[in-house]
Order: sequence, then structure tokens, then C-alpha cells
Amino acid sequence: MVRTDSYTRPEIHRYECTDCLARIESEDRLIDCPECGSRVRNVAVPRE
Ligand SMILES: [Zn+2]
Repeated sequence: MVRTDSYTRPEIHRYECTDCLARIESEDRLIDCPECGSRVRNVAVPRE
């Protein structure tokens, strides 16, 4: 079996574009902003 990361269940990851500051939510890892193509950074969100 191949594990890509430590997450074993679907989880929404939140990203913020470093350029246009768009907020993106995705179940998959993102590298590029779907809006402008710039890099996104993972935004840690406190769980509630
Ligand atoms: Zn962007």
C-alpha cells in the first residue's frame, strides 16, 4: 500500500493564495491557485 501522507480519512484542507489571497477549500492537496495559478499556502484552521 502506498500512503501519500498521514491523513487516513477525507478532510477538507484550506488554502490561501499567496498572490490574490483567494481562499480555496479542497479535499486534495493543492499547489497552485485555481484562480490565478500562483502558489497557495496551507492555512491551519482550528477545529471546532
Ligand atoms: Zn490566486
